[in-house]
Amino acid sequence: MKNLRCPFKQNIKQSLLLTMILIKERKPVLAKLETVDCGKPLSESEADMDDVIGCFEYYADLAEGLDAKQKAPISLPMKTFKSYVIREPIGVVALIVPWNYPLLMATWKVAPALAAGCAAILKPSELASVTCLELGEVCREVDLPAGVLNILPGLGPEAGASLASHPHVDKISFTGSTVTAVKIMTAAAQRVKPVTLELGGKGPIVVFEDVDIDKAVEWTIFGCFYTNGQICSATSRLIVHESIAAEFLDRLVKWSENIKISDPLEEGCKLGPIVSRGQYEKVMNFISNAKGEGATILYGGNRPKHLKKGFFVEPTIITDVTTSMQIWREEVFGPVLCVKTFTTEEEAIELANDTHYGLGGAVVSKDRERCDRVSKLLQNGAVWVNCSQPCFCQAPFGGTKWSGFGRELGEWGLESYLSVKQVTEYV
Ligand code: NAP
Repeated sequence: MKNLRCPFKQNIKQSLLLTMILIKERKPVLAKLETVDCGKPLSESEADMDDVIGCFEYYADLAEGLDAKQKAPISLPMKTFKSYVIREPIGVVALIVPWNYPLLMATWKVAPALAAGCAAILKPSELASVTCLELGEVCREVDLPAGVLNILPGLGPEAGASLASHPHVDKISFTGSTVTAVKIMTAAAQRVKPVTLELGGKGPIVVFEDVDIDKAVEWTIFGCFYTNGQICSATSRLIVHESIAAEFLDRLVKWSENIKISDPLEEGCKLGPIVSRGQYEKVMNFISNAKGEGATILYGGNRPKHLKKGFFVEPTIITDVTTSMQIWREEVFGPVLCVKTFTTEEEAIELANDTHYGLGGAVVSKDRERCDRVSKLLQNGAVWVNCSQPCFCQAPFGGTKWSGFGRELGEWGLESYLSVKQVTEYV
């Protein structure tokens, strides 16, 4: 396996660009496969494919730039020594991804890993592995030597666990739940392997009293219900100023009533089915536990009446929530928003940070200085101002606290697959 290190460096830019071109050509088919496999609306799968294409193109450029950075000299205090730094591929990398953005999450790892010169083994989720297998087909057609990218389908506790503990794997990059991350980190610790962990979230969206209510409602809906609410960085805790809360919730309900829930391949669908029976039952349990603990289901909470079959859940808004309730503390990974109000900025920040997680968070206000203040104080790896969820492959993505560590995307994503070596010479 070690022989695979950096076997095709000269052609990496070309390989990544060819992969990008083939994916572009196959976008309609790939998007449809993604939707059929994981249930997200077709328009969202199409947007995912655009991001996949952009990500391969971006890392093709970074791969080229990497050579120029080699042997970067270090300035030393003693003239008798000369030192420089080289960056080498970290080795064979295991890339384990979830089912909510199957091909996109895979691309966030595969593109920088290959750009760095690593050989990769990609383990998609058994719940949605089709587009990752298609990526394998695409790579067969471009000039990637056999064995550089390997797709390993199989159940997590078997295929994923074997990969995480394999002695020839030099690094693990994992996206998934915090519970699985603990197992992976434990396996990695036995061989002192580096890990990058992109985990769950329970993101806040803090809405101040000076906002344009309709715009803020739109971002709140998008931030929590996109991808059927199965988004790691979802801003699923609305923290809204008390003075506008009644009107805000009123309009939130009206917007939610207009969300089209249907077969995800149907034109105009905004909310498709949850990925599996297990996940559907989990989401429904969260809703009934919230009721049991004394919260109010302001909107939704059921399977939509017009859909007799499929794991559909109405967009759900929950009020009368306390900070000790499960619905406030745990990641649902479904279209469920819980709401609290605040009166002071300090209180809003305290509520926003009142979670073990720290992935995405948002602040909505017309006051620039306040947005800067709050952005600085939010304990999240990504903070969105007057929006929620935008994600660009040029910017670092990752979490704090239980949301993991290490960063994907941007130059940070590439660095995570490189090992830095200093060479110092006595002259
Ligand atoms: P998961 O159950 O942790 O699974 C993630 C991946 O790990 C899947 O490929 C799974 O395989 C595999 N796996 C399961 N058990 C394993 C084990 N013991 N050893 C090695 N691999 C194992 O998470 P999920 O339910 O698929 O995804 C939802 C979670 O991912 C949520 O918590 C969400 O927030 C998080 N997520 C985070 C990000 C981010 O960027 N931070 C993005 C998307 C999702 P199988 O599915 O085949 O069993």
